[in-house]
Amino acid sequence: MTTQSTNTVKAYGATSAKDPMTALNIQRRELNPEDIQMDILYCGICHSDLHQIKNDFGMSVYPLVPGHEIVGRVTAVGSNVKNFKVGDLSAIGCIVDSCKVCPHCEHGNEQFCQQGVTFSFNSPDKHTGGMTYGGFSKTYVCDEKYVVKMPTSLDLAAAAPLLCAGITVYSPLKHWQAGPGKKVGILGIGGLGHVAIKMAKAMGAHVVVFTTSQAKVEDAKRLGADEAVLSSD
Ligand SMILES: [Zn+2]
Ligand SMILES: [Zn+2]
Repeated sequence: MTTQSTNTVKAYGATSAKDPMTALNIQRRELNPEDIQMDILYCGICHSDLHQIKNDFGMSVYPLVPGHEIVGRVTAVGSNVKNFKVGDLSAIGCIVDSCKVCPHCEHGNEQFCQQGVTFSFNSPDKHTGGMTYGGFSKTYVCDEKYVVKMPTSLDLAAAAPLLCAGITVYSPLKHWQAGPGKKVGILGIGGLGHVAIKMAKAMGAHVVVFTTSQAKVEDAKRLGADEAVLSSD
């Protein structure tokens, strides 16, 4: 573990499982050669953020700054950064660091990193020696390997949830090659489910939704589902 100099940044976070969220000052590290710094423009709220705020998983370290659906604009780049320049639209999801060299990292499965993956918030930060702080803040500093480019054509506020809810449903659809001639079943139309309907439809699959509420049968069809089954009936 190493420590390095930092910048003070305004953030919004939780100081305990019971108190309301509050304004905080956090520290972001100075840029390493592979790092980019971004001004955060939008950040989604995922239910995992709410669980962590309330310590539902029993592993929250306070103060805790949530947010892992982060969209921003690059404001500085380290000397070895190759894929970003100042002014680029950029985004960060759940993962902000890993060892890069173990077999899992080499296969793009950094979530299984043998040395342990670093998440975008409430995760031990090997650079600062403290915990990572998420996107409910003004800026983020991250190794460019874990930063993605945002297309300029997207509504950035609406696109922020793609960084967690979106990839969570995109990954299995891609893995199982959803497309023409395949049927996709989607259980529940919440933050993930409604994105799954639109993605599976766009891939050309036949989409069947299962919901427990009558009102969402119509929502499912409006979002493009071919069939919606009321599972409580
Ligand atoms: Zn999430
Ligand atoms: Zn690794």
